Amino acid sequence: MMGLAVDGGLLVPHQIPDVRAVMGDWHGLDYASLAFEVMRLFIDDIDDETLRDVIERSYGTFDDPAVTPLRSVGDVSILELFHGPTLAFKDVALQFLGNVFELILSESQSHLNILGATSGDTGSAAIAGVRGKDRINIFVLYPDGKTSRLQERQMTTVLEDNVHNIALRGSFDDCQTLMKSVFSDLDFKEKYHLGAVNSVNWARVLAQIVYYFSAWHQLGMPAKFNVSVPTGNFGDIFAGYLALRMGLPIHRLILATNSNDILARFFNSGRYARGEVSYSESPAMDIQVSSNFERYLFYRLGESGDKVADFMQSFSNEGAVNLHYNTPRVDEHFRAASASDEQTLNTIAAVYRDHQYLVDPHTAVGVHVGRRLHEGDIPLVCLATAHPAKFDAAMSRALPGVEVSHPTLTALSGLPERKQVMEVDEDRVKGYLVAHSG
Ligand SMILES: *Cc1c(COP(=O)(O)O)cnc(C)c1O
Repeated sequence: MMGLAVDGGLLVPHQIPDVRAVMGDWHGLDYASLAFEVMRLFIDDIDDETLRDVIERSYGTFDDPAVTPLRSVGDVSILELFHGPTLAFKDVALQFLGNVFELILSESQSHLNILGATSGDTGSAAIAGVRGKDRINIFVLYPDGKTSRLQERQMTTVLEDNVHNIALRGSFDDCQTLMKSVFSDLDFKEKYHLGAVNSVNWARVLAQIVYYFSAWHQLGMPAKFNVSVPTGNFGDIFAGYLALRMGLPIHRLILATNSNDILARFFNSGRYARGEVSYSESPAMDIQVSSNFERYLFYRLGESGDKVADFMQSFSNEGAVNLHYNTPRVDEHFRAASASDEQTLNTIAAVYRDHQYLVDPHTAVGVHVGRRLHEGDIPLVCLATAHPAKFDAAMSRALPGVEVSHPTLTALSGLPERKQVMEVDEDRVKGYLVAHSG
């Protein structure tokens, strides 16, 4: 529940279990049972029956019985991760997180003020995970005017008293920086029981590991497969990396970015260098500094916390660091590239034309890069991270005249909304938190 560790770093498990001997036996389990098998390997403080109940309630809110169904679309398989309440993959983690937090807080008789920063989808998914829950308030920082209107409405139409939307006049990185700065004030953090649900939260990463196994089962357990992941904060793909380290036969993790390509540049050059944020057709990935990347570095740097700290310190001082490596690539498990907006929109149009299947702009980035970097004749899974109706403006640029809607979203228009607009000012945000924390 603590978000960042007390020294400002990120939490990782002591040990990554090797599941090669048992993962085949999980074939045929329903999603909740699979999630139970995977997650309990990392959880020793919730009894089996309670954990099973939490997991079942978390995935009972999804509108497809498979939870994360795999669809065959031409030469690729699309893992649909958008069947939760807010129609984006973040629900997979945050429905679980809301229920786990509620459980822990009621056992300890304490309360929690969640502070999060969102570029769009995290906020609504986090809100959907905790709305109306006892003992929890949520404060969501997001860049005013830089999320889609629909994404904003998914947050601001939630009127429960424990939900606070704060629209900052800045970029997503500004929101994330401000949030980190509030968290680094340890006295404040402790006094106001602050916690995080951002993608740095370990329990979120944990919940996301599950669907990589689900994809493999739905593919029929091939000897190898590749997965293409549209990437922003490196959370989703890091879960895939853990699945790989647990023994899942992922041949390559294909990292797909939009024009905000710091990660793609890193995996192709070994140089991690901050750029300017640019706004794209896939706004949930308009991120330069990916918070979960630090976790990957831990494994890449021989599980040395000191080396990670040095790396992050140099990055913070100089804005760029070179990783010294001896192989032709930074990491043979990864391939990486970026897609321009034009390539993204063309991919949406081509997939629809050829297969009558709609992919959202984030998914399209993954499909474009996945196809480009895929080698050999092993199966390619592309993660579909949002329902296309969430990004209706981009969809109509790609496919003029094609109607893209979802009843859940249509129902939002005209509902009353609530938000606070603020400058990027830490003291004002803290003041608001103090006034509204429970
Ligand atoms: C958050 C998000 C991403 C990026 O996921 P990360 O875990 O931050 O890499 C991609 N697509 C959509 C639709 C998202 O909401």
